[in-house]
Amino acid sequence: MQVPAYVEYEKATSIEHALALLARFGPEARILAGGHSLIPMMKLRLAQPETLVDINGLGELCYLRVTDGELRIGALTRHAQLLDSPVAGQHFAILHDAEKVIADPIVRNWGTVGGSLCQADPSEDLSAAFAALKATMLIQGPGGSRTVPAREFHTGPYETVVAPGELLTEIRIAIRPGGGSAYAKVGRRVGDWPVGAAGAAIWLAGDIITDAGIGLTAVGARHFSAAEAEEFLRGAPATEASFARAGEIAAAHCNPSPDQRGPADYKRHLASELTTRALRRALRRAQRQDA
Ligand SMILES: Cc1cc2nc3c(=O)[nH]c(=O)nc-3n(C[C@H](O)[C@H](O)[C@H](O)COP(=O)(O)OP(=O)(O)OC[C@H]3O[C@@H](n4cnc5c(N)ncnc54)[C@H](O)[C@@H]3O)c2cc1C
Repeated sequence: MQVPAYVEYEKATSIEHALALLARFGPEARILAGGHSLIPMMKLRLAQPETLVDINGLGELCYLRVTDGELRIGALTRHAQLLDSPVAGQHFAILHDAEKVIADPIVRNWGTVGGSLCQADPSEDLSAAFAALKATMLIQGPGGSRTVPAREFHTGPYETVVAPGELLTEIRIAIRPGGGSAYAKVGRRVGDWPVGAAGAAIWLAGDIITDAGIGLTAVGARHFSAAEAEEFLRGAPATEASFARAGEIAAAHCNPSPDQRGPADYKRHLASELTTRALRRALRRAQRQDA
C-alpha cells in the first residue's frame, strides 16, 4: 500500500502552538518533522496518525550553539546543518563522522536530528553517537520541560520516553577538556543503514583514560551503549591493548539479530572491531593528532 490513510494536517507556528495542537488532537496526533521516516511508514500503513502537527516552520528549534559549556542542538536541526556546523565538528568530531555516513544528501537536507532520535530505529546512527557523548535530551510538554539522559531516552525499538503531547526540543552535550571522539560504521553500500556501527568518546589525563563513552547501533546493545566496556576503560591506560579488550567486552554484551544485513556473529565481530577503531581515532583526536 503506497498511499497513506486520510489524515488531518496542522501547521504549528511556535513550540507553544505545537503543544496546544498535540493537546487538542490527543494521542493519535503525530509530529511531522522531515517526514523521511514517518511518511514512508504512513504509506505502508505501519503508522496511521489521525493528525499531523507540522513543526517545519519552527525556526526556534533549528540551531547549533554553545551555551553554558554545552553544545546545544535544536531538535529541528537538519542532518546537513549538523554536518556543516564548524562548532559541532570542533568539539565533537564524532557527529561529523556519523553524519557523513547517514543516508544521502536528499535525506540529510530535510531529515532532522530530533526526528531521527524520536523514530528510535534500532539501527539509527545518531542514537549511538549521542549515547557515546552522554548527551541529555530536553523534552517539553504541557506541564513544562524535563531533561532525560540519552541512555534513558529509548525504551525499546521505535519507542522513546517522549509521551503523547510532548515534544523533543533540544539535545545537550557537555564540553569537557581533554576529550576526543570518533564514529566507525560498516554498511552494505554508501548511504545505507549500518550493518553495525560504534561511536567512542574518551577523556584523558596524560595517558590515562578518566572517562569513556561507547555507543553501538544495529547490534542489539542495551541503550545504544556498552556500559561494561566503558567501566573497563575508566582508569585504564590509553593503549591499543585497552582498546582491543574494550571491543571484546562491548561485543560480548551486545545481542545482535541476524537479518538481511548480516548474521549475528558477523555483527558481533563488527561491534568489537568498530569499537576498537573508534577508540583509536578518538585517542588521536584527544591528543590533537587527527582532524
Ligand atoms: C533512504 C534513507 C536512508 C536512511 N539512512 C539512514 C542511515 O544510514 N542512518 C540513520 O541513522 N538513519 C537513516 N535514515 C533515517 C533518516 O535519518 C530519518 O528518516 C530521518 O532523519 C528522520 O527524521 P525526520 O525529521 O525525517 O523525522 P520524521 O519522519 O518527521 O519523524 C520520525 C518520528 O519522530 C517523531 N518526531 C519527529 N520530530 C519530533 C520531535 N521534535 N519531538 C517528538 N517527536 C518527533 C515523528 O512524530 C515520527 O514519529 C534513512 C532514511 C532514508 C529515507
